[in-house]
Amino acid sequence: MEKSCDMYDVIVVGAGIEGSSTAYHLAKSGNQTLLLEQFPLPHSRGSSHGQSRITRKAYGAKDFYTRMMFESFELTSELEKECGKQLFMYVIIYVTRNCGTLVFGRPDNAYTLSTEKSLRRFRVSFEKLDSAEQRRRYPGMAFPDDFNYILDKTGGVLRADKMLQAFQAQFVRFGGVLRDGEPMMDLLPGDVVSVRTRGHVYRGRSVVLALGPWAATFLPSIGVNIPLEPLKITVCYWKESDSDTFSSSKFPTFFTENAIGDGQVYGLPAEEYPGLVKICLHTGPRIDPDRRDAVDNQWVMDKIKGIIATHFPTLEREPRVVETCIYTNTPDADFVLDHHPVWKNVVIAAGFSGHGFKLAPVVGKVLSQMATGQKPSYDMTPFRIDRFFKNKL
Ligand SMILES: Cc1cc2nc3c(=O)[nH]c(=O)nc-3n(C[C@H](O)[C@H](O)[C@H](O)COP(=O)(O)OP(=O)(O)OC[C@H]3O[C@@H](n4cnc5c(N)ncnc54)[C@H](O)[C@@H]3O)c2cc1C
Repeated sequence: MEKSCDMYDVIVVGAGIEGSSTAYHLAKSGNQTLLLEQFPLPHSRGSSHGQSRITRKAYGAKDFYTRMMFESFELTSELEKECGKQLFMYVIIYVTRNCGTLVFGRPDNAYTLSTEKSLRRFRVSFEKLDSAEQRRRYPGMAFPDDFNYILDKTGGVLRADKMLQAFQAQFVRFGGVLRDGEPMMDLLPGDVVSVRTRGHVYRGRSVVLALGPWAATFLPSIGVNIPLEPLKITVCYWKESDSDTFSSSKFPTFFTENAIGDGQVYGLPAEEYPGLVKICLHTGPRIDPDRRDAVDNQWVMDKIKGIIATHFPTLEREPRVVETCIYTNTPDADFVLDHHPVWKNVVIAAGFSGHGFKLAPVVGKVLSQMATGQKPSYDMTPFRIDRFFKNKL
């Protein structure tokens, strides 16, 4: 049961998927934990809303993510089981484990080539398809004959909203305190960290800042200037004109770098809206998260419509549903998971660069270790803040 108090072991600020997973791990291991969120929950202003995300083990040349993905799959299953037992409903977080993730591109595409190598190295089950086989299995896609296709068979769709709710519900069940609709106004570091909201001052032995796109505006106020770029992502759902080739029993999740020059495009089978497949550009205009809707995204719409017309000829030319979400990118597309350079009991989680959902179960575990003085289970070198400044020093 929820029990409010003045002093917490850890305060987690931000109840997106990263903060919620962190708070869950902390409460589960017996820490008195406060999870603070600026908006009433659930909300759709950050990066973790919506019903679906791609999960997969393939991670190009970045083996440190593939290593973490093995544990992420296990932790997700553990969360599913806990919910099934304790909530008296079985939350199926994986819609389908077997639709797979198709990574493809031109013969010289580095990401496709390194994905194949990585899957071999980690002995993950995969298939290599040629163009003829791709067309036979996925007739809704039309790409040049010389493209390479790698199907990561572990890939699939995560039910994103269910997973977020499950972490938050389990956090409260483990005794965590969840306060939503309560923005952190400022943070006073020290041996005990104080977090001030409009009505309260909360104190914690440590704090985890998981602010999503708002990290870009808040972190400079505590002396951390990471190059973070919040981008508006336009999420489009397209209807097939006649046949049914995009359901999850017939169509995989996919990622390609070569659909528009070197631009990246991803897609998920029709799941959340009946008969509508989700296909989006992996980029968008830079924004201030508080003025997300004011920015012009016409170039994104023009590009994605061009891709649909050329490469997905059975889909209607206009999306039936358009939604918005935010990426927070770093220059190398790797996360920031580190201690504040001066105050070690302030832990920073930022820059999830459009691929942080599938890793959230393990990211939350690692952040909970960092916030409680334990050695993280993984080598944290790729996630350090000082990587951005090394060449300048
Ligand atoms: C369209 C789209 C598709 C994606 N697809 C995939 C995918 O297929 N696979 C994948 O792995 N990842 C994917 N991602 C990325 C993934 O969703 C994000 O990396 C992840 O959701 C980031 O979560 P977060 O907790 O860091 O941020 P957020 O969800 O934005 O959470 C941060 C929270 O902090 C709160 N907050 C901020 N400031 C304060 C404050 N001062 N006080 C209190 N609360 C505060 C915010 O309100 C927010 O709720 C996708 C993202 C988008 C946008």
